[in-house]
Amino acid sequence: MSEIGEEVERAHLLGELIRQAPFNLQVIDRAGSTVAASDACLRIFNIERATLVGPGVHNVLQDRRLRDAGVTAAIEAAFTGERTFMPLIEIPAGEDGEPLLISVDAFPIRLGETITHAGILYRDVREKVILQKHLIAKNTELEQFVYTVSHDLKSPLAVITGCLELLQDAGYDPGDLQKHLGMIDRSAGMIRRFVDSLLTLSRAGRSFGQKHDDPPVELATLVKGIMIDFQVSYPDVDFSYDIRALPTVDLPYTECNHLFQNLIGNAIKYRRPDRRLHVTFFCEPTPIAWRIAVRDNGRGIAAAEREKIFEVFTRGTMPAGVDIPEGTGVGLAIVRKIVEKAGGKVWVESRLGEGSTFWFTLPRTD
Ligand code: ADP
Repeated sequence: MSEIGEEVERAHLLGELIRQAPFNLQVIDRAGSTVAASDACLRIFNIERATLVGPGVHNVLQDRRLRDAGVTAAIEAAFTGERTFMPLIEIPAGEDGEPLLISVDAFPIRLGETITHAGILYRDVREKVILQKHLIAKNTELEQFVYTVSHDLKSPLAVITGCLELLQDAGYDPGDLQKHLGMIDRSAGMIRRFVDSLLTLSRAGRSFGQKHDDPPVELATLVKGIMIDFQVSYPDVDFSYDIRALPTVDLPYTECNHLFQNLIGNAIKYRRPDRRLHVTFFCEPTPIAWRIAVRDNGRGIAAAEREKIFEVFTRGTMPAGVDIPEGTGVGLAIVRKIVEKAGGKVWVESRLGEGSTFWFTLPRTD
């Protein structure tokens, strides 16, 4: 092969290597023309080879989007011998696409002593940024969680240690014993309920995705059983209910039980004292999901609280002068976790003073 033939072959080989390289590489000459680019690089910018590569086709140094994002400065620095790494750059969306989140590594390419070209390696960091944001949000949530847990456990613990100190005092009046034992018992009960609800929350939805041997759950039977249990545990509360057609679902029994226990428990807790509580259960199926509702005629929920109450430790407010019933603010977070793990959604519709309807969807498998 002649010398010229060999050179052409070498150039062709090099061109092919760059084109097929599994990274986003662009090589630019001093005039700002792209002399080579990998297919991967074209994909990241969503651009055709013919509109980017070739002398005079597109001047990178005059590209406004690249200049505004600081990339042009990095290329110019490469021609002075500097390597520049920019970990996160946002390039606004072009006519056809979404904004780009990329890292840029611009470096000089030398032929002997002379810098003939600038090379740029781009990396798509969108997923990394999304992941980072998600991690930061999770971390903040965790910090808030730890803060609330320690704060909520502190006050009953302070009552218990305070009472124990009094009991050990030499001048302790035995007449106060029952009162202080009662305080210790109530505080220990608060701690136990709190820890129990946290455990339930951490376990909620865990069994989805695992194989289970439970037979399909007839929701109407499950709900009836829970209502009968509540009638026993709240003998002083007069309430009625009606269960309209509810589906049978192929989900783990314990998850369904926790779901309804929490919703029904709340309907009872947040009933109106001046009227008989009535709870209605019904389902409005769609072709792909069971849309199930638990409707009560209780206190209702203020519009500003309807989203927040599903967050862990978030409790609603009560009318002035009315004590908030006992609770930890975890019940609806458990409900949401179970429903979401099952692949559904939960929301509430309500009119303050008139009642609430808690809706959730469960995917249909029938
Ligand atoms: P908790 O009952 O311990 O406060 P939840 O997470 O179960 O925790 O409920 C959060 C808040 O949502 C409650 O404090 C209450 O204000 C409101 N809520 C829940 N269910 C109902 C309901 N059926 N009617 C009115 N308010 C409700």
